[in-house]
Amino acid sequence: MLLRHTTSEIKDRSALMVNPAKTCQPIGAMYAALGVHGCLPHSHGSQGCYAYHRSTLTRHFKEPVMAATSAFTEGASVFGGQANLLQAIDNIFTVYEPEVIAVHTTCLSETIGDDIPQIVNKAKAEGRIPEGKYVFHANTPSYVGSHVTGFSSMTKAMVDYFAESAAPKSKLVNLIPGFVEPADMSEVRRIASELGIASIMFPDTARVLNGPMTGKYKMFPEGGVTIEQLKQSGGSMGTIALGAIASAPAGLAMDAKCKVPCQVLNLPIGLHDTDLFVDTLRRMAGVNVPESIDLERGQLVDAISDWHSYLYGKRVGLVGDPDQLLALARFLTALDMKPVYVVTGSPAGKKYEEALRETLSGVADEIHIAVPGDMFLFHQWIKNQSVDLLMGNTYVKYIARDEDIPYVRFGFPILDRMGHSYFPSVGYRGALRLLEKVLDALLDRKERDSTDVNFELVL
Ligand code: SF4
Repeated sequence: MLLRHTTSEIKDRSALMVNPAKTCQPIGAMYAALGVHGCLPHSHGSQGCYAYHRSTLTRHFKEPVMAATSAFTEGASVFGGQANLLQAIDNIFTVYEPEVIAVHTTCLSETIGDDIPQIVNKAKAEGRIPEGKYVFHANTPSYVGSHVTGFSSMTKAMVDYFAESAAPKSKLVNLIPGFVEPADMSEVRRIASELGIASIMFPDTARVLNGPMTGKYKMFPEGGVTIEQLKQSGGSMGTIALGAIASAPAGLAMDAKCKVPCQVLNLPIGLHDTDLFVDTLRRMAGVNVPESIDLERGQLVDAISDWHSYLYGKRVGLVGDPDQLLALARFLTALDMKPVYVVTGSPAGKKYEEALRETLSGVADEIHIAVPGDMFLFHQWIKNQSVDLLMGNTYVKYIARDEDIPYVRFGFPILDRMGHSYFPSVGYRGALRLLEKVLDALLDRKERDSTDVNFELVL
């Protein structure tokens, strides 16, 4: 019992989080920055923060994650990090030759109050940024928000720094995929292209963090949105921002800056939210939905109706990031499952919490939602009344083991399995894969608990 100190008695806590269901802002900012082609993320703070950010991404994606740091020592911590960042910009462009540097701050540099735009302007004035190269930034103080906030801020910075207004508008659609896996980003783009729609996706980590082994090391892999595309995105006919928390700020900034109308949707996880995504694409671009997409949808509906009896009424506990949880909860309720406990560590706001409560209203007599909450509380709910299935990141495995509950890994970070960066969870195909994982977990448990008499070959 690794979590044997978790009690079933729940007491009010106002100033203590135990096992928060989130990680720090710069991790999300670094992930978003890796979705820009030729970009070297730069952590403006101490080496310890930077090592943590890189290692979390490396452990999740099983890929080397390149980044740089201002490497604060005692002097920078007292007098500010300007000299360190100026020197770093010089060194990075000289030694590594990226197209662009994406600077994010840390708790330390935010507490000092370093003014990054002023430092970047100074670097420009001093000729430290070569012609045709760029430096952009996002403020990511980790004592507020979470990795999702950091991702969202860095994505919005791409709009603030690069998007250029144009008229007339092109036939391109901007896709902002949210904090999802590289494979999800590929799938979102594939669905758009099945409809015959040309798109600009940002950020785009496909082939950056799930690239092939070629035998040759490349510091800057093939994938990622280019700066040219980011500039062009201001002339697109529309933007679809997937996820109100991770993507909406960038989509709305694009609308305000370049008059590109933005539609904010849930992540396309599950049947109904993928339907909404496809329908929005269809209406925005004035195209028809091709047979290939109808086929994928039909296969998902067929699988749901074939296997529904094993899903019906199953109680589920969910831990994860806000955009994922909302869409996943909608998918599970559409399968007649009962997501009764939902926890996110990200402070997603009242409006988000209301949307989640509305999605889950009527699912069960008692629903527990914590926005933001922690996994200690989640575990306590389970101790009081258990569930049939857990879905969440790697940290949920301790609860699954202690309480002997079937468990599906979903979300970020997943440190102890592979596959998540290669196989999507979004779209109809992604929903089919999620369905398979949920069914596998439930049926494996059913078989484990069956007597010899009840152990069936065909389920
Ligand atoms: S000090 Fe702040 S930025 Fe650095 S690792 Fe900790 S939470 Fe993240």
